[in-house]
Formats: sequence, C-alpha cells, structure tokens
Amino acid sequence: MDSDTAAPRNHFIRTIIDADLAHGRHIALATRFPPEPNGYLHLGHAKSICLNFGLAEDYRGTCNLRFDDTNPEKESQEFEEAIAADVRWLGFSWDTRYFHASDYFPQLYDYAVHLIRAGKAYVDSLAAEEIRIHRGTLTAPGRDSPYRSRSVAENLALFERMRAGEFNDGEHVLRAKIDMASPNINLRDPILYRIRKTPHHRTGATWNIYPMYDYTHCLSDALEGITHSLCTLEFEDHRPLYDWVLDNLPVPCHPQQIEFARLEVNYTITSKRKLHALVAEKLVDGWDDPRLPTLKGLRRRGYTPGALREFCERVGVTKKQTIIDISALETCVRENLDATAPRVMAVLAPLKVVLDNYPAQQVEMLAAANHPKFPELGTRQIPFARELYIERDDFMEVPAKKFHRLAPGQEVRLRYGYLITCREVIKDAQGEIIELRCIYDPATRGGNAPDGRQIKGTLHWVAAPTALRAEVRLYDRLFNVPDPGARDDFRTFLNPDSKQIIADARIEPSLSGSANGAHFQFERVGYFCVDPDSQADLPVFNRTVALRDTWAKVQSATG
Ligand code: ATP
Ligand code: MG
Repeated sequence: MDSDTAAPRNHFIRTIIDADLAHGRHIALATRFPPEPNGYLHLGHAKSICLNFGLAEDYRGTCNLRFDDTNPEKESQEFEEAIAADVRWLGFSWDTRYFHASDYFPQLYDYAVHLIRAGKAYVDSLAAEEIRIHRGTLTAPGRDSPYRSRSVAENLALFERMRAGEFNDGEHVLRAKIDMASPNINLRDPILYRIRKTPHHRTGATWNIYPMYDYTHCLSDALEGITHSLCTLEFEDHRPLYDWVLDNLPVPCHPQQIEFARLEVNYTITSKRKLHALVAEKLVDGWDDPRLPTLKGLRRRGYTPGALREFCERVGVTKKQTIIDISALETCVRENLDATAPRVMAVLAPLKVVLDNYPAQQVEMLAAANHPKFPELGTRQIPFARELYIERDDFMEVPAKKFHRLAPGQEVRLRYGYLITCREVIKDAQGEIIELRCIYDPATRGGNAPDGRQIKGTLHWVAAPTALRAEVRLYDRLFNVPDPGARDDFRTFLNPDSKQIIADARIEPSLSGSANGAHFQFERVGYFCVDPDSQADLPVFNRTVALRDTWAKVQSATG
C-alpha cells in the first residue's frame, strides 16, 4: 500500500497469527472479507476490510472477497458491485479471489446429505413458531421435536423433495441434530436449510432451499482454505457451532474463528436497518449523502481512503466493545488532507472591498504557494484587482478586543497580496454594510512591509472581476446527540444544521474545471472537495471537515 510506512500496531489477532506461523500450523495467512450483498458498506465494514485485507498484505498472505449471498430476498447484483467498488476504493485488491457463497451451493447440499446419512441432521416439519417454542430459553432447556427421530431414509427423501421444490416456504427445514439441552442456544439443533422459493440474483431458480449463515460461513471458509476467520463479537456464541459443522464433515481444513469488537462511532449510526430508514424516508439525500457513514457518503464528503485506513489502524483491534469519538475520525481526515490538499482561496460570505488608490482597469498576477509546507508543490498565479471580496466575518465596524482583522483605520495583510487599510464603510438603506473603501500600500507586494512593520491579521480574498461563483455545501454531523442509535427514535435527534448551502461563494479562477472529487484546502476555512453535482458554470464544493474541531469548543462551553 502507498506511503503507509509506519509499523502496524500490534494486537491480539497478530499475536495469534504470529504464533500459528511460528509453530508451522499454516504456511501462509489466508483471510476473507464476507459482506452480504444486501446494502452498502459503511464505516464499520471499513474496519473489517482494513483488518482482513491489511493483515493479508502485512503477512504476504491472501484475502478473499466473498459475498455471503444466502438470502435471495434481500440481495442484489447492484449491492454486490457497489461493495466491490468500495473495497477497491479503500485501496485493496483481491485479484482473482472473488467468490460467492452461492458458488458452493452444490457442495453445501452434498455436505448436508452427508450429515443426514451420519444421523447428524434431520428434516423438521414443525411450524416456525413451534420450533421457536421448542428451542427453550436462556434458563430453560429446549425440547426435542417429534420429527427428530425420523429415519435417515425418510430424511434423505424429504430433503431431496425440499430441494426439488415440492414444498412451500416454511413447511420443512433441515436441522442439525446436536443437543436440545445445550446451555448454548445456538447448539439446540440449529436450522441448516430453509425453503425459499425466491430466485437468487446469481443462481436464478436453481435452488428452492437456501443454507443458513452459520452453516454456510464456516464451510465457505474451509472450502477456500481460510486460516483465520475474523468476525465481530456477537458471533462468539456461534463459534461452537462453527466448529461442530467443520468437525462433522470431511472438509479440507478447519479455519479458526476469532472475534473482535465492532467499530462503533458516536454521533452516527451504522445499523443497516436505520440507514435504510434514513434513505427511504428521505431524511438524507440518498445512500451517498455526504452526512452518512456509508463509504459512498464518506467518499462524496471528501474523506480519503488513506484517512479511513489510518483511522481503522488507530482504533485498533480488541475484544472490548468501546465507542470511538467521531472527532478521532475527523482528525485523521484533517491530517491526511493537510498533507495532500492544495491550498486555494475562496470566500464563502463575500463582502466587497474597493481599493481607491489601485488603477481601475488593472489586473496583476501574484504568485501564491500551492502548499506552504511543501515548496516542491510549486506556486500558481492569482489575479489581484481594484475590487476584491473578503469574508464578511473578517470585518468589524466596531472591532472587539483582540480583533486583528479588518476594521476602520486598521491595516491587514491580504495573503500573497498587499497590505490594505480600511478608510470608509458603505451601507445600504437598511444599514447593512455592502462595501468597504480601502487603500493599498504599493510597496507591500507579496504581503510584506519593507519597513518591517508588524501586521497581525492576514485575510484570504479573491479578486472580484476574475472570481468564479460556486455553490458550497457545509456539512456537519447528522445527529446532535452522541448516541442516536440507542435512542427510542433516532429521527428525533437529527441535527437541523447538518447541511447548509451557500449559493454564491466566490472562488479563485484556478479552480475552474476542477475534477469531481478533487480536494482542496480553502485557506482559513476548511477542506473541501468537488461534488459530482458541479456544472461547468457552477462548481459545487462539499465541506469535508473544518480546519479545527468546532464541536470540542461547543461541548466545553456547554459543560
Ligand atoms: P447484517 O449481517 O445484519 O446484514 P452486517 O453489518 O453484519 O449486517 P455484513 O455484510 O454481514 O453486514 O458484514 C460484512 C462483514 O463486516 C462481517 O464480517 C461483519 O462482521 C463486518 N462488520 C459489519 N459491521 C461492522 C462493524 N461495525 N465493525 C466491524 N466489522 C463490522
Ligand atoms: Mg453480517
């Protein structure tokens, strides 16, 4: 991977892998990322992707992209393609290791027949509700189904007829015969197959029965020769079942399931169901809304793959469930863009400045550094003229204490331009300031006074005659509480200020024709990227992140 030179942080999974390799238990590491193609990937998935693909890179092993497509009702080719694109965007590749659980349906069927023949699986004909009641509770053991003692021959015949489509959804299921009294409910004769007469996006109408996740996942891992099957903590109680299936079938190998804590970030939600509700109820503008934690949304917002990978690295891998502060993510984005985003000038709330002593028709070109920290990134020429725009906030008619920006009689530096002094304030009939009359000091070209006089304020600006108009979308956190997912109705806690549109910002002309997705730092304002809604005559910029964490201030001010 590019530029990531720091040694990866150690964690308990690395310790396990190191020991396994040292003891010769495996020749090479083999992991997989197993998304279900039933939705778009989000920040939580990024952790699993970075972990699985990242370990494979570090240990010179392999990581498979495997679609866990066992639920035809909710899955689609569109989701599959979007997921693959997101994994690639994050910076990982799978070469030819692109698989589907559905590729294994014939083999999984044969394995099920094997279990039936061994007396380890049976067809149950209880209704779903009956099965649930028979399963017992955490404190009470389950009860055997009356169908549990069916003969092998009868089970084989019924299972074959299930497959042939002779029964309707829910009439029968295939269950493992393990232990209805097990303290682990997952071992109380779990369902292996159910009837679903729904066409599958890859296998069409071939199958009338579909294997369950717990049965499919471990077998897919084994068939692909996975060494370490990494999953989130909620599967810890499923591990005995994972092992039971593999121990009872003639599989090529027995991968080790290891659980880690899922990524949870405050001020956001990652539940697929709730994300779906936000989109379906049009509370956000689609799956790639820049306020969503979907990878599509984060990408449109301007978050970079490098920032997300760095975030996942810093979050680390543990067995303890914690909630990560979203400002940690924002810090990674800021750091990443600070190093890479070219600097430009843009004025979001323009206030006109007229330089009375500057020649009326003159436009001169001034050199501006593209990146103050990296001179090798060069300079560009920006126009300067008699009429300019500065930020409304950068002027105060009656300056507050320590306000070093523009005020009547006060001198400031225009970055890369000249020193200017405000002489007069022009207002409209309502008393609103519409223009400032200033003078510039011709001896200060580039922004420095030859006499060395100290100037405290430096402002960004654009020249009025050459500036381009732009739409700027200021995005902020979607929720105004840290734990929207834990609330009764997360909709109540939407941040009303999460999207603010500025229709007529002014930007320097060098930004004309910038590519979709290009990143910039608007000096003194924040990091922005070009939105795909941009038109030739009206570029649109999304604020990725402000230059500083403004929420930290809000929180400390409010207690
Ligand atoms: P569901 O299975 O309910 O549809 P899911 O979030 O588990 O939702 P999958 O497509 O099954 O979605 O997830 C693919 C992989 O990503 C799984 O290995 C899962 O454990 C992992 N994953 C999902 N959410 C997170 C998270 N918040 N943190 C870390 N890993 C996650
Ligand atoms: Mg899942």
